[in-house]
Amino acid sequence: MADSEQTQHPPDVAPILDYDAVIVGAGMSGLYQLHRLRELGLRVRVFEAGSSVGGTWYWNRYPGARFDSESYSYGYSFSKELLEEWDWSEHFAGQPETLRYLNLVADKFALRRDIQFRSRVTAATYEEDNRSWDVALEDGSRFRTRFLITAIGPLSAPTLPRIDGINSFRGQSFHTARWPHEPVDLRGKRIAVIGTGATGVQTIQTIAKDVGHLTVFQRTPNWCAPLHNSKIDRATQKKIKAGYPEMFRRCQETFACFVHTPDNRGTFEVSDEEREAFFEKLYAEPGFGIWQGNFRDILTDRTANAFISDFVARKIRQRVKDPNVAEKLIPQNHGFGTRRVPLETRYYEVYNQDNVELVDITKTPIERITPTGIKTSNVEYQFDVIIYATGFDAVTGSFDRIDFRGVDGVRLKDRWKNGPQTYLGVLVDGFPNMMMLMGPHTALGNIPRSIEYNVDWVTGLLRFCREQNLTRVEATGAGVTSWTEHVKALGVGLLSNEVNSWMTGYNSNIDGKQTRIVARYSGSAPAYRATCDEAAAKGYHELALD
Ligand SMILES: Cc1cc2nc3c(=O)[nH]c(=O)nc-3n(C[C@H](O)[C@H](O)[C@H](O)COP(=O)(O)OP(=O)(O)OC[C@H]3O[C@@H](n4cnc5c(N)ncnc54)[C@H](O)[C@@H]3O)c2cc1C
Repeated sequence: MADSEQTQHPPDVAPILDYDAVIVGAGMSGLYQLHRLRELGLRVRVFEAGSSVGGTWYWNRYPGARFDSESYSYGYSFSKELLEEWDWSEHFAGQPETLRYLNLVADKFALRRDIQFRSRVTAATYEEDNRSWDVALEDGSRFRTRFLITAIGPLSAPTLPRIDGINSFRGQSFHTARWPHEPVDLRGKRIAVIGTGATGVQTIQTIAKDVGHLTVFQRTPNWCAPLHNSKIDRATQKKIKAGYPEMFRRCQETFACFVHTPDNRGTFEVSDEEREAFFEKLYAEPGFGIWQGNFRDILTDRTANAFISDFVARKIRQRVKDPNVAEKLIPQNHGFGTRRVPLETRYYEVYNQDNVELVDITKTPIERITPTGIKTSNVEYQFDVIIYATGFDAVTGSFDRIDFRGVDGVRLKDRWKNGPQTYLGVLVDGFPNMMMLMGPHTALGNIPRSIEYNVDWVTGLLRFCREQNLTRVEATGAGVTSWTEHVKALGVGLLSNEVNSWMTGYNSNIDGKQTRIVARYSGSAPAYRATCDEAAAKGYHELALD
């Protein structure tokens, strides 16, 4: 369960100390940013902790890892040739396929030669004298760069639960986001899965049929909905390719960049029959439609939310045979869609299997991990393998793990101790020449669509700096206050902001993260882009440029 892979330098990399830009991370964001900055003719270096490209899709190799976004809406849109060349085999592709895709991207655009793998950035210090960043790696090597671009991922810092004895277990144990590269044989074994978020759900439904016995330790059940995945046949493939421009245009127009977008109608503007029929239709359709394409008020109006929650609860009761187990699987502390909705494939039916047991750890808490298993308040279980599907220190977690020091040595972590403060989710005052991709306060949703926009915006800013001979770019205090207040105001009235989840920066396993913060931009993606476009069109007038 090593958090990073050992830092080693490829022999062909000369210790050049000056780059125009350093990008941290070689996931979807870092790869595309490298490609775009090369086009500007900048000298760029990417530092990546892993041993290859792919980010999320490199690290998350757990059984059943796959998209909840439609595959073709997730891929990059910037290269027609790439779109033509790549065939997604399923409507919601699995992790191995996505990793192959990102490797193809890296090869096709010859990106690897500027990426240094097994290179975890541990610190970055701004030096006013030369207007540059001093970037330090885990192995002690240091590099100086004019611009520092973080592409370190909103969900890339895994967290283990705080349970006594976790290191005493003598069997195998894995965090899902640090799953080994070699196959793990779970057949016939006694397996524990701790956690029932999106990752836990995918893992559980995938392994349940093969393992000897599966015990699921659940603290918070989530409202899951069917994925309805299927293979893409040849005729559909042709249609998808011909429809790419239209599909990407649609993703630009929808609220969260998905192919789905909220229905204009309110829950109570239709008859009971119509409402039920609409919910049934959404439940039978593939993907996030039931979350992202539902009535416009289900995520803001408590009564509306209760209707869709009740609908999904009825589905769970129909699908799970044992009524006691069904009740355990129905969330009580939050409404449908107010946490990230896991999409599932026969997840609920798993609990009808004789070899599967669900343990509600709010009733019988885990007391400790023992050398041979897990002890709850009333049972001592024996396991061969423990799987921690306990998620991430989301959004700000990957930032907290780097010692960023801005002007006068101010630490970013201190600056953000009461929640992130940003300008457009890209810049922070006091941290000149540092830009964030998919950092806090940006539009997430169907993330690659936001990544492409974010990267293009940052590229535009760096082009502007080049053209204007600028060597120092900084957000102003006023700009940061105004954007941060705007982001907070957008979150008012959203039911999701009243719930503890990674989307509100809450993590019971991390010190100091038991207070909800506004970590995400929750307005519409088109509105976000309009604001950023305007800032660029006005010559970045809200930035201090020199
Ligand atoms: C299991 C799972 C399923 C998902 N499914 C979807 C989906 O269906 N649709 C969707 O839109 N989004 C999904 N996401 C979100 C996903 O993270 C984004 O879609 C996208 O991959 C983010 O890309 P990124 O490059 O910004 O970050 P990442 O892919 O997280 O890449 C960040 C990279 O930075 C590296 N890094 C971090 N810190 C350092 C450091 N200090 N030094 C060096 N390198 C560092 C990491 O090793 C990593 O490779 C999913 C996430 C997970 C975990």
